[in-house]
Amino acid sequence: MRVVVLGAGFGGLEVSTRLSEALGDGADVVLIDKADGFVFGFSKLDVMFGRTTQDAVFHPYTQVVKPGVRVVQATIEAIDPAAKRVDTDAGSFDADVLVVALGADLHPEATPGLVEGGHEFYTVAGAFGLRDVLADFDGGRVIVGVTSTPFKCPPAPSETALLMHDFLTERGLRDRSEVSLVMPLPVPIPPSPDASTALLQAFAERGIGWFPEQLVRELDPATKVAHFADGMEMPYDLFLGVPVHRVPPVVAESGMCVDGWVPVDPITLETAFPDVYAVGDVTSVGTPKAGVFAEGQGAVVADAIIARHRGDDGAAGYDGRGICYLEFGQQQVAKVDVVFRPGQPPTGIWMGPTGESVADKAEFGTSRISRWFGREWTAVPGSTG
Ligand SMILES: Cc1cc2nc3c(=O)[nH]c(=O)nc-3n(C[C@H](O)[C@H](O)[C@H](O)COP(=O)(O)OP(=O)(O)OC[C@H]3O[C@@H](n4cnc5c(N)ncnc54)[C@H](O)[C@@H]3O)c2cc1C
Repeated sequence: MRVVVLGAGFGGLEVSTRLSEALGDGADVVLIDKADGFVFGFSKLDVMFGRTTQDAVFHPYTQVVKPGVRVVQATIEAIDPAAKRVDTDAGSFDADVLVVALGADLHPEATPGLVEGGHEFYTVAGAFGLRDVLADFDGGRVIVGVTSTPFKCPPAPSETALLMHDFLTERGLRDRSEVSLVMPLPVPIPPSPDASTALLQAFAERGIGWFPEQLVRELDPATKVAHFADGMEMPYDLFLGVPVHRVPPVVAESGMCVDGWVPVDPITLETAFPDVYAVGDVTSVGTPKAGVFAEGQGAVVADAIIARHRGDDGAAGYDGRGICYLEFGQQQVAKVDVVFRPGQPPTGIWMGPTGESVADKAEFGTSRISRWFGREWTAVPGSTG
């Protein structure tokens, strides 16, 4: 069974690793990505705040050496989900089973003024570039602002505001600075009232301005004013934005999307096309766009392929569960254990913030790099991973 996995992020790496672990040389997997390596989303914050270097958080795909898996660095140019065929700039690939794990593309240019008058911290280049910008920042009005929904890792803007508070405090700049957080959500973590209460308390204690149910629609680079969707205006000296998210163009052109994202069965991750699965940020499965969910969905798809390969009965379905680590600053990390089940309100159990969870979060990163890349990697002490 030829399995072609599109995208080597959280979802694609988990699918490929699990197939190799179970089937060894019996697996026939091609894993395609245009990038030359992987960076955890949360490592972007570590680099941006100067807690590590970009080289230390980059994991090259040349290190993904697994029985039954061939890694191809190529740009996917067309997907035919009916024929289960993909065209890339390194040739075409025919599959018996296709797994689409191409994530969400980021579009800073879609928000007027963001490229000219602000910064975004969601792309690798944007976050890494901010390291020097922050190092040179002399204090002032900082806005952490979301520009559209949906967006990856809903806790990340809150983490960024808390880490910005620490960053300014450590440099003696906090007294002459303001930190404001502009979010489309009514509370920071809607599935967990306890998490939201703890975060709102932390914002209040640190003097971080909380602006819920708002989106930043436009920046005026000349006057350095952010314009919100409801007409409100807020001046800034440093704008850190979460850019517009969309499926990659090749997915949009494949005919697989409905309302901008790939619909899937929330239990099996099957798309409308036979033997074509989709996992992670590229889907509208109903979980937040986060690595833990992409990984969990990838595991379910891999188990279904393994069961089919062995002629077993169906594998277990997706349970919608994920543990999100939340960087609280001040050397503390919290956890929220959330479950998103179709047709039911999401639930969340809040743990922390504590110093012990810093090690748990580091282990989260270490264990993934060990399984996916076959090498040791130690996260930055006291960091997000
Ligand atoms: C600042 C920040 C912090 C975050 N923190 C966390 C966190 O703490 N925990 C957590 O769980 N998640 C976190 N996330 C979210 C997490 O990074 C994503 O949700 C996750 O990476 C999604 O996995 P995925 O497999 O769906 O897609 P991705 O990991 O985005 O992988 C998609 C892959 O597809 C490739 N690709 C796209 N188009 C093409 C093409 N045409 N040809 C070839 N290859 C292509 C890309 O190069 C990419 O490697 C964070 C994100 C950010 C930005």
